[in-house]
Amino acid sequence: MMPYGRHSVTEDDIAAVSEVLRGDWLTTGPAVRAFEDELSRWAGGMPCVSVTSGTAALHVAYVAAGLRPGDEVVMPPMTFVATAATAHLLGGKVVFADVEPDTANLDPAAAEAAMTPRTRVVTAVDYAGHPAEYDALRELTGAADAVLVADAAHSLGSFYRDRPVGTLADLTTFSFFPTKTVTTAEGGAVVATDPARLATAARFRNHGLVRDPAEQRHPDEGGWHQEVHSFGLNYRLPDVLCALGIAQLGRLAEFRSRRAELVARYDALLADVPGLALPACRPYVSPCRHLYPVRVLDGRRREVYDRMRKAGIGVQVNYIPAYWHPAFEDLGYRRGMCPVAERYYTEQLSLPLHPGLSFADQSRVIEELTRILT
Ligand SMILES: *Cc1c(COP(=O)(O)O)cnc(C)c1O
Repeated sequence: MMPYGRHSVTEDDIAAVSEVLRGDWLTTGPAVRAFEDELSRWAGGMPCVSVTSGTAALHVAYVAAGLRPGDEVVMPPMTFVATAATAHLLGGKVVFADVEPDTANLDPAAAEAAMTPRTRVVTAVDYAGHPAEYDALRELTGAADAVLVADAAHSLGSFYRDRPVGTLADLTTFSFFPTKTVTTAEGGAVVATDPARLATAARFRNHGLVRDPAEQRHPDEGGWHQEVHSFGLNYRLPDVLCALGIAQLGRLAEFRSRRAELVARYDALLADVPGLALPACRPYVSPCRHLYPVRVLDGRRREVYDRMRKAGIGVQVNYIPAYWHPAFEDLGYRRGMCPVAERYYTEQLSLPLHPGLSFADQSRVIEELTRILT
């Protein structure tokens, strides 16, 4: 089956990992900082903290945002469940707001309507790699004294009004899962524009440990002493994986242009296929696309999915609206809540897109899809 997404790992990537394996540090050594520094360069110079997954990054971001039990978190349902699950696990109340019909990103008007005095966080998701409407969202969160979080699992390397992802929200989270633009096998990161939030994130990822005597409550205990002021977890990304991350970030410009090339080719060659809507792109956005999400009209998505898979083409659906998961159903969330997102979901299909996809394989995808729809 031709995959819809796939990592690209070269011999140089492998050599970078092997070198760390032969060294003194397998975890929390020099590769961690070097990876974070390199990632910060892509995030417009904003500092970041690496963690063990995109899910961990979201968890840490909500902690850094000061999310407390009972606080409300506004987000779109057109996302992977982790965006919502992590907020819920911290006692947050997830409030779903509808999306724009063409980008499937959080609709600022819907977000505004969903906000209340208890809204602590608004989370935007850069669906498929296309940044959300950050100027409008920032205005909303600024006026409400809420924190703007960007789930940028799809959008590393994208720009909004010439500003890179990482600079657009108070806190930005990345995922380095193998299908994402850059991989560390499992991995993630949190970018914070505020140093206090960055410090909270860094501490939480390491059990909440306080090592600096100047900050300790009992600094005279001895040289070995470290103490916990508020609980954290072990979300440390090992050196071995950071070494892979450094090598991968060194190839991000290449990934970005290859993805753009494939996207332009899909855009051109699928433009006239009937019953198909191609992904929208705002004129002021320069996306590094993680997904190529088409919409199959006329109620034919299921049929097209089945026939493409039968032809050996690994198309995917991203995503069922998050509140359709039984866990949210059991909490009282009902279908129909975000009709635009639900409509988008019923039509959505992700075509294969990854740097290793050859033009020949892409042509096979285009031909098969065209044959089914015409
Ligand atoms: C992949 C993804 C996550 C979770 O990242 P993991 O690294 O798999 O934990 C969260 N949100 C979105 C939108 C994602 O695509």
